[in-house]
Amino acid sequence: MPASEKSLIRRIRQLSGKPGVARIPLGIGDDAAILRVPPGHEVLVTTDLSLENVHFRRDWHPPESVGHRCLARGFSDIAAMGGQPIAAFLSLALPATLPQKWVDGFLRGLLALADQHGVVLAGGDTAQSPGLGSSANILADIVVVGSAPRGEALRRSGATSGDSIYVTGKLGASALALEALFAKPKTRLDPKKYPGHFYPQPRLAVGRYLRDRGIASSMIDLSDGLSTDLHHCCCERRVSAEVAAERIPRAEGATLEHALHGGEDYELLFTAPGNRKIPRRIAGVAVTRIGKIKSGPTRVLLLEGLRSQELAPGGWEHFRNPRRSP
Ligand code: ADP
Ligand code: MG
Repeated sequence: MPASEKSLIRRIRQLSGKPGVARIPLGIGDDAAILRVPPGHEVLVTTDLSLENVHFRRDWHPPESVGHRCLARGFSDIAAMGGQPIAAFLSLALPATLPQKWVDGFLRGLLALADQHGVVLAGGDTAQSPGLGSSANILADIVVVGSAPRGEALRRSGATSGDSIYVTGKLGASALALEALFAKPKTRLDPKKYPGHFYPQPRLAVGRYLRDRGIASSMIDLSDGLSTDLHHCCCERRVSAEVAAERIPRAEGATLEHALHGGEDYELLFTAPGNRKIPRRIAGVAVTRIGKIKSGPTRVLLLEGLRSQELAPGGWEHFRNPRRSP
């Protein structure tokens, strides 16, 4: 059973980073937190739900991984805008029967990632999840507040004809792990062998680098899958994209399918003018050119050798993929 609401909040308050730092005069404990945005910046806000049996399963994912992934999703959105996270807010609905050990593990995972990026957990809400026994599910909602210099945050909509398309890191690691989990639902995977799935690293430093130097014309994080997320970018500006299959960097063991349609890699996809020189590594992360943007109609073409075929968005979409969860 988790500790009572009051003692749980007390515990979270003890574990979370120290407010009082320049950007957070007031954190957990009052009716609202107070945040300070650096002069000349504007506020970025993102929110992401992590639902048991949709985004994770208690028998597949250790609580530390669930906490890490919960915050990584929010950080990755801020990274995709080229922003700097300032504070996180965590709303939890927990089943009455959930062991406190699980909650502690979840917080450990979440707060370790927050710490790694110097971000404080500045508030949230705590409630009991409805339902009895195994029908009561865990729900965690993360809000991340960040900032970027006014008018400079990178959007999905800036890709124009002639731009090159790049991705960071390697793709397909998360889908590869999910496939292994679905294949043998009763066995546990060693998170150390599948870090891309259990502990994805949001690319905050890369995102900031690209924004800071005015390199990227558009950017998005790969949360739903390359095919789907690239479509999002093309739709915003009514342009088309051409991607070369053999250039897509794949995680070890991942197939082209995993890399194209698997979500939750949390790498960055960005476009930059074709004549712009892009470092091969940024902040220690590989950057690979995978294709180019052309004028409309809105579509993504996949080039494989001499063949070219239209790539339909095949990544994750809620209410459309009833079979696959989490
Ligand atoms: P209120 O009734 O005003 O919502 P609460 O008793 O719910 O206040 O919360 C007290 C303080 O604890 C607030 O600062 C709130 O932001 C914080 N808090 C509550 N739940 C969480 C949580 N899950 N994570 C982080 N902070 C929390
Ligand atoms: Mg409350």
